[in-house]
Amino acid sequence: MRLSVAVPERPELTGHTRVAGVIGCPVRHSLSPTIVNAAFAAAGLDWAYLAFEVPEGAAGLAMGGVRALGLEGVSVTMPHKEAVIASLDRLTADAEALQAVNCVHRAGHELVGHNTDGPGFVDSLRVDEGIDLDGRTLTVIGAGGAARSVIRAAARAGARAIVVVNRTPEAAERAVALAPGVARVGTAEEVGETDLVVNATPLGMGVVTGADGSSEPLPVDPDRLEKGQVVVDLVYHPAATPLLQAAHERGLVAVNGLGMLIHQAAHAFRIWTGEEPPLEVMSAAAVSSLLHRGGADQD
Ligand code: NAP
Repeated sequence: MRLSVAVPERPELTGHTRVAGVIGCPVRHSLSPTIVNAAFAAAGLDWAYLAFEVPEGAAGLAMGGVRALGLEGVSVTMPHKEAVIASLDRLTADAEALQAVNCVHRAGHELVGHNTDGPGFVDSLRVDEGIDLDGRTLTVIGAGGAARSVIRAAARAGARAIVVVNRTPEAAERAVALAPGVARVGTAEEVGETDLVVNATPLGMGVVTGADGSSEPLPVDPDRLEKGQVVVDLVYHPAATPLLQAAHERGLVAVNGLGMLIHQAAHAFRIWTGEEPPLEVMSAAAVSSLLHRGGADQD
């Protein structure tokens, strides 16, 4: 992430300004408006991106608003990623397979649901870290929405094997079905055996406590990590989660989820505007905002 890139000022809003946004609840601390507005400004687009706090159960009403007001598209975050589907006209193959949408595009009279989380994960490793998943092996901890998008995208990127480790085995079984022949259910004891280890649980955000009320457990026992492994945490706040700190102390490559957030937004930018996203500006805006505000929701 480069901080030396100047984040351009937003041009004056006019009657011609085109509008996109993010729906979620809570959403007020989302980094997405900062990232996407910086991208619009850098690309010289008369577009604006706003955060809309939409309560649980109101995703359908929000999609009516998108149609009626002529918004260009919206990002979709918790708790609407599944609920929004019923109000869309079409889904991409990724969104259909995952039954989760994180990006809606208004294409004429149709609202199309996309899922850019997985491609964002793959791009963050390839573009930011120089890691190509082709032929690599991964352990994915978790089997929720983020894990599922990572599993599907990693398999498409050529991952040789994906081991899914999850608290609830049934969810792990459903997740491995997204990558037949590549993914299988595994155990935490195997975590040292793959090239990459990906935490796709909220453990590390400081929001979960142990069953007995003890402090937040790590998603995996760091003593099981092996030399040469790359450890990725989809959490990006704090920037250095306890898992990433443990990986760093062991001399492993440690990557947080900020790159995934930026690259999934870059995909949305491309879908909405048809233009190439200014990635350096988006990264600089995100890093600078995190440094100044000291806290943010995850997406
Ligand atoms: P989700 O659908 O609610 O799934 C959560 C997963 O974590 C489930 O597999 C759940 O296991 C597991 N889990 C939750 N609490 C646990 C605990 N105490 N011990 C062990 N496992 C636990 O959430 P999600 O949308 O996938 O998000 C997961 C994480 O990824 C969050 O931190 C989110 O902020 C982050 N994320 C980051 C990005 C990004 O761009 N960087 C994008 C999306 C998500 P069970 O199946 O047993 O419940």
